[in-house]
Formats: sequence, C-alpha cells, structure tokens
Amino acid sequence: MNLENTVKFHFAKSTMISDSPRATGSDSLTGTDIMAAMGMTQERAAMGYSAFLGKMGISHNDRVRAITLLAEYALTKCDSVAALRKLDAGVKPLVMHQLAMFAFEDYSRSAASVKQCDCCAGQGFIEADVFTMKSHYTMKLPQWAKDLKQSPGDFEVKRQVKEAVRLLCSTCKGKKVVSCACSDCRGRGKAVNHKETKKQGVPVFSTCKRCSGRGYERIPSTEAYAAVCQITDAITVATWEKSVKRFYDQLITKFDLEEAWAEQQLRRITR
Ligand SMILES: [Zn+2]
Ligand SMILES: [Zn+2]
Repeated sequence: MNLENTVKFHFAKSTMISDSPRATGSDSLTGTDIMAAMGMTQERAAMGYSAFLGKMGISHNDRVRAITLLAEYALTKCDSVAALRKLDAGVKPLVMHQLAMFAFEDYSRSAASVKQCDCCAGQGFIEADVFTMKSHYTMKLPQWAKDLKQSPGDFEVKRQVKEAVRLLCSTCKGKKVVSCACSDCRGRGKAVNHKETKKQGVPVFSTCKRCSGRGYERIPSTEAYAAVCQITDAITVATWEKSVKRFYDQLITKFDLEEAWAEQQLRRITR
C-alpha cells in the first residue's frame, strides 16, 4: 500500500473502508489494519506524512503540522548559515516559520494548482476608463430628422464622456486565479522540440526547457525573500542569493525526502 492509496480513506466514511479495499490493491488489509497502518506511519514519519496529507488538501491541520515541524527542523539547522545564525533570538523562529511556509507552498504546488491572477490582483476584473463620444441636440428635433443622420450640425453638440468600467480580466477570464501549469508544455513536462521535429519530419518531444520537465512554475524564491524582509531587514539581497536561498531550497527538498520516507514506512508496515 502506498501514500496515494491512503487518500481515499481520509475522504471515506467508515462504510467505505470495508467496502473497497480491493481497489487499493491490498486485498488482505481490513479497514482497521489500514487505519492502524496510517497511525503508525504518522508516528514514524510525522513530517512526511503530514506534508503529504497537507499537499493533497486532506486537512488544514496536517498542513499546519508539516510547516511547524519543518520550521522546528530549520531552527536546528540554520546556524550553519552565518546570516541566519546572526539573527536575533526573537526573530529567528519567525524567519524559519516564514521560510517553512513558502517551502510548503512550493512543495505542494503541482500542474493542477492555481495561483492568484497577478494581472487583476485576484479581482477577476480590471477597472478601466473608457472614452465614448456622445452627442445631444440643443433643440428638440423630430425623430425623422435624427433617423436621417443628417441632422443640422448646428444643433448637435458632441462631447467625450469618460466612464469607469469594469472589464473582465483577460488573463484569468474573471476566474481570479490562473493555473500554475507551465505555459510552454501546459503541465505535461514535455514540449515539442521544433529543431528535431523539423529535422526528423515527425513530432519530437523533449523535456520542457522552461520548467525542466516539472510541468509547473515554481514559486520564485524572491517571493520568499520579500516575505522575510517583512520580518527583518538583516538579510540583504546579496546574502540571500549567496547563502540563504540555498538553505531555503534545502527546506523544500526536505519535504520531498520526508515524504519518500513516509512512503517507505507505510509500505514496510503494510507489507
Ligand atoms: Zn485576472
Ligand atoms: Zn514546461
């Protein structure tokens, strides 16, 4: 049994558990076995299991727990980076928590994720000024005169009218969010290699250069840096680029490693 299989059990009510063990490919396991296995995995691989459940959107608590555990871990490791070691004792845990939050967002992002539309700041529409030409007549003209459209120009006054209108955001089509899927490969991780396609005469796909085959755009680390700057101004951009960014990347990787560890534990327990 793997982590992916446990997902349905979190959504399922007790009836489902005895109902569909076959679909999980673990015929011999009863619902109780599975619940026990999940409990043991949680115990042995707390960070990885919580991170996985948080990523799958199963519970908000798991997300919070995973972030807290990573922040605690970060706190034990951060002194290896001079710029972090020098932070005030009161500020350090806050910075670690902020980095852990961004690490979680990055770890849990997939090609299916959505992010706020930057174009409209998540509003779904854009306020725009539209100028229209309006006209009116200085005297009351009979309808036939207006219909002729050859109304005496002397009586017609034209003016430009400015109106503030809400236009549907063209980027997100009013949905307020946009997909995180890579715009080159649309989340597939592979894109048409135009050079090879031309040479071979058949469509040739290769790993997408834009997302390195990941299928989605990562959260720019500058966003994490900006959030850290809200807490302290002790870390300069140069320091971030030189040393702190690497530490932050390690935190993201930590979730992947911990998830793999949880996976391994669950397999071992349910073997
Ligand atoms: Zn938008
Ligand atoms: Zn791509």
